[in-house]
Amino acid sequence: MEILGMNLEFSDNKKMNQYFHRFAGQLSDWYCRDKAPELASQDTRFVLELQKEKIRALGLNMQVQIRKSAARDSAPFSCSYCDSVFVNSGVSGNKLINTIIRDSQKELYSKSAESVVAAIMQYPKEGSVPAPDTAFSCPHCGAPSTLGKLESGCEFCGTKFLMSELYPKVMYYSIEEGYQSKSEIHRYLKCSGAAALLMLIIFMVIRITEGSGFQVSDIAACIIGGPFLGAMMWIFVKIFSTFFQMGKDLRGAGKTGASLRFCREMRKLDPNFSTEYFRDKSFSLLKIMLYSRNPQELTVCRCAKPVPEKLREIVDATYCNSGVNKYSIKDGVCDVSLTFYIDSIHYCGGRIRNKSDKIRMSLRKVIKKPTDLGFSVSSVTCPSCGGSFDAEKVKDCPFCGNPYPLIENDWVVTDISMG
Ligand SMILES: [Zn+2]
Ligand SMILES: [Zn+2]
Repeated sequence: MEILGMNLEFSDNKKMNQYFHRFAGQLSDWYCRDKAPELASQDTRFVLELQKEKIRALGLNMQVQIRKSAARDSAPFSCSYCDSVFVNSGVSGNKLINTIIRDSQKELYSKSAESVVAAIMQYPKEGSVPAPDTAFSCPHCGAPSTLGKLESGCEFCGTKFLMSELYPKVMYYSIEEGYQSKSEIHRYLKCSGAAALLMLIIFMVIRITEGSGFQVSDIAACIIGGPFLGAMMWIFVKIFSTFFQMGKDLRGAGKTGASLRFCREMRKLDPNFSTEYFRDKSFSLLKIMLYSRNPQELTVCRCAKPVPEKLREIVDATYCNSGVNKYSIKDGVCDVSLTFYIDSIHYCGGRIRNKSDKIRMSLRKVIKKPTDLGFSVSSVTCPSCGGSFDAEKVKDCPFCGNPYPLIENDWVVTDISMG
């Protein structure tokens, strides 16, 4: 496809996979070397920055190393959604994730897990050219700008961009723990070793109570019996962990009916609305609320109550599932209450804990116009004076002082609590 004289071909999976691996590397560089991920959209960067600020303020250091998986390599998945201009396409693959959290003295947490990394990449639809006034933050310095301005040179840093350098950009990403990093053989050997050791202890106890000496046949029994008992233990562990995993994935399954009804109704009012879009959008809002040190000051936050203390302990959140509890659409205003099931890392009393959380969050939007996938809260245009600014950090236009009506363009958070 041709965009502003640049030939871009995205239908080609190889190219998308290259972008995917590059983004994974950039994400790793962000956590370990403080290097801003260039492929990340400004809103994605905002979430990452909030998280880093929060972790620093707690006196912690978190490193997330994203490495090549020992298992199968990346495979693209089909999910994609679009509006009249943009396509959001998902690419996912296996990566080995090492998470290390330290305070100033010692290591508090370390985990290595095979995981699935998924990235939603946005690029212009074949044959369509995004308007020059499309909000776009400078990939180099992060200043709010527009596509047209960036092509003629960023007003702040002067860097010029070609359309091909600006797309694709990663709108959302997620990391979900896949299978264990230890291979099955490794786990089986561990079970066998444990079983053999257990048998040895039992034999020793028996021989000591009998008052007789340890016999060669006892050791032979341990060597033969260990692997046998180990196999039984291994099967037991496998069945148990499978059930546990299933239970986790089934959390929230009861909300499927309401979720589908909500999406069906929203699509009647907004043809660009999709389940995938709303899942990504709402989880990204949840992360902003969890990672922000002063959520009440965020433009997206319209909550009357403060964020509960328990939620403020969370320093990292991984999506498991979500569903709609209830919704109402009245006079062009949509209110929706959601429940999220997440795996999270809590920091409390100097200790790091892994938890599974259930969080309720309410969102609101004025449904005036269809979803605009190119919309970014980090570079908005003031409807009163036309000035562009970053609405992630300020609620009122810095040029004319009028409050920015975010709710007409995007979802805002009206309530958040522990489920
Ligand atoms: Zn710039
Ligand atoms: Zn203004």
